[in-house]
Amino acid sequence: MAVFSRCSRAATAPTRIATATFAYVIRALSSSSFCSSSTLNTETDLNNNNKPAALGTLQREPKGRNVQWVFLGCPGVGKGTYASRLSNLLGVPHIATGDLVRHELASSGPLSSKLKEIVNQGKLVSDEIIIDLLSKRLGVEAAKGESGFILDGFPRTIRQAEILEGVTDIDLVVNLKLREEALLAKCLGRRICSECGGNYNVACIDIKAENGRPGMYMAALPPPPQCESKLITRADDTEEVVKERLRIYHEMFYCSYRLDL
Ligand code: AMP
Repeated sequence: MAVFSRCSRAATAPTRIATATFAYVIRALSSSSFCSSSTLNTETDLNNNNKPAALGTLQREPKGRNVQWVFLGCPGVGKGTYASRLSNLLGVPHIATGDLVRHELASSGPLSSKLKEIVNQGKLVSDEIIIDLLSKRLGVEAAKGESGFILDGFPRTIRQAEILEGVTDIDLVVNLKLREEALLAKCLGRRICSECGGNYNVACIDIKAENGRPGMYMAALPPPPQCESKLITRADDTEEVVKERLRIYHEMFYCSYRLDL
């Protein structure tokens, strides 16, 4: 609840926060190590700075629209869990680009096998594909007359941050952090109900205090009885792939650790 009231207060002063927070995201993504990442393979649309059509449906003016928030953080940090709870409380769509990617991957569309290969190696999908998927999702939202969003896992590259900043104002960016030891365990313990889509976690994190560092306890998030027999594990939640996802995440967010904003 403390997080929620802080977030609510922040959302009442969107313009200043938008500028400050977005400058932060772009700085955070602007580390030199990011530039050596293999993810900047965007093609003509993005290079020409064209705004994807549906992104044009986003509104800058905070009056009369819902919150426009961004949740960032390492794989396994729990951004999806918090974003989805807040989206229920606030009545705004929770848009996770990871979900959009998995949805496309599970389809028999032309991108499916390409995405499967990228995701199952723990790599990032190209900016072009992500912007395209997000544009389509926002187009659906606009058609339904919905406004506002909590974005989860987007932006993840400088280019994505620049594009988002170019089309709308973001009221709040939440960058969640969790101790490294806990992240791998959280990813490996993640379970999803194949029927209702609910997210659970069988890992109980119990790190003892050591060398002046405090201990940490995070209880498991067990599924309700009706989901127990339907649990599945994400294909990219294997130890090898999670380590690669964490490596790529740190490579890109190196700068944010130094800024410690
Ligand atoms: P997530 O569910 O956020 O862990 O995302 C799962 C996978 O989808 C990631 O490992 C990436 O391959 C891909 N993905 C999700 N969001 C993005 C993004 N904003 N940019 C690039 N790739 C993404």
